[in-house]
Amino acid sequence: MATAENTLAFSGGWEYAPAPESTDHIEVASRYGLFIDGDFVRPEKGRYFDTINPATEERLSRVALAGPEDVDKAVKAARKAYSSVWSRMKPAERGKYIFRIARMLQERAREFAAIESLDGGKPIRESRDIDIPLAAAHFFYYAGWADKLEYAFPGRRPRPLGVAGQVIPWNFPLLMAAWKIAPALAAGNTVVLKPAETTPLTALKLAELIADAGLPPGVVNIVTGAGDTGSAIVEHPGVNKVAFTGSTAVGKRIQKALAGGRKSYTLELGGKAANIVFADAAIDQAVEGIVNGIFFNQGHVCCAGSRLFVQESVADEVVEKLSQRMETLIVGDPLDKNTDIGAINSKMQLDKIRDYLKVGEAEGGSLHQASGKLPRKGYWCRPAFFTGVSQSSRVVQEEIFGPVLAIQTFRTFDEALEKANNTPYGLSGGVWTDKGAKIFRMTQGLKAGVVWANTFNKFDPTSPFGGYKESGVGREGGLHGLDAYLRLGE
Ligand code: NAD
Repeated sequence: MATAENTLAFSGGWEYAPAPESTDHIEVASRYGLFIDGDFVRPEKGRYFDTINPATEERLSRVALAGPEDVDKAVKAARKAYSSVWSRMKPAERGKYIFRIARMLQERAREFAAIESLDGGKPIRESRDIDIPLAAAHFFYYAGWADKLEYAFPGRRPRPLGVAGQVIPWNFPLLMAAWKIAPALAAGNTVVLKPAETTPLTALKLAELIADAGLPPGVVNIVTGAGDTGSAIVEHPGVNKVAFTGSTAVGKRIQKALAGGRKSYTLELGGKAANIVFADAAIDQAVEGIVNGIFFNQGHVCCAGSRLFVQESVADEVVEKLSQRMETLIVGDPLDKNTDIGAINSKMQLDKIRDYLKVGEAEGGSLHQASGKLPRKGYWCRPAFFTGVSQSSRVVQEEIFGPVLAIQTFRTFDEALEKANNTPYGLSGGVWTDKGAKIFRMTQGLKAGVVWANTFNKFDPTSPFGGYKESGVGREGGLHGLDAYLRLGE
């Protein structure tokens, strides 16, 4: 299996010997069909598309392109499985299947992690330590609820909705699939899921694992394709619930398509999180949090801390430390265990990030970008930040979805809060201070679904996640995430 040519261990003068994760243990087929009714089947029209490794630009596999006729087959299989097996099964039995998926994911974690990094470009450290363990944790968590729904929602007679149509993005491919599939199954629904077109492989591997786990055919169906396949799922009359994670632009289109209909839906959309650093914060710790907040997963994170607000008296110190730290980040081969920043997921995304770098400068911002060399092939972006930008700058207002931070300063608490809330988004935020009272005031004032205090980008299956304003409708995770897959009566 080809990997990026080399890792450029440019890290403030330190050279690290490459430490690549082996790919000997993984199997990627040269072609994948659609997982419908328990089997991999050919797409009706026989069309396939390439999925590539963004670190080498080489093809990893060819994947079926599902048309409306394939989506229809998948929805019908899900309906049959719902009516004849899954909704009738004893909840404790359903739970056993979901526990089995969780355990098998743990057993095959190394394989899933390597494939996630190959297909998506994220550093192996992240896929190994975050994506795959968290995906397994979601299956474990929701498996536990399957036979306790009456306790989760006492006196509400919880019943499943039917067939869930689920569409997910490319930034956390397996984790997003777990966020969607695990609660849906625990609640007694069946599923048709579509992964993003640039990262279909771990969802297809999950399909294999689900077949190996012996799940009844049709309970989970995985169809691959791009936007048209997604909209065929969303608009299919046999789907009872739509769960979408992706951009706000597509989310709005979906919301319009569903308006006035009977399908229930949850939309998890974009973000432009504020990370707020007060002068009394532990500065070194805050700098690490800023780095984690925006450079983690190449900034391909909906809740990335992409706007930084620093109290004026410590702004020079924070910017200087951040600049030094940025120089030590290793950009390169996603499979290398030394790598901090892997490949940008696609050429299209890289072009978008580069455009924003130009926009920020044209708007009068000062661009500071790390200086290391980049591998010759593949899609790469050095970490960067802007200073001298204003509230109206596009790099401050719009979601870039890359390793690019916009820095502004503030003097007072109220100014920080007002600036932080001045965005159409409201997914997440962060506050760094030594004072508990400031944390409480800030978390109450910030219009965001999740606010981290003296940390950033921490996830747990028991905790609900989702946004306000244009960041979405509904919540995933925790009991809120289960509720979204149930009809609750009195
Ligand atoms: P995207 O909206 O372009 O695509 C997301 C998915 O929707 C893909 O599978 C795509 O094929 C499909 N799709 C595209 N057009 C569609 C249509 N008309 N109907 C139905 N499906 C359609 O988003 P992306 O670029 O893949 O992902 C990045 C976005 O996802 C960012 O905006 C990010 O903030 C957001 N995101 C949000 C969360 C969250 O929990 N709020 C989590 C991860 C990512």
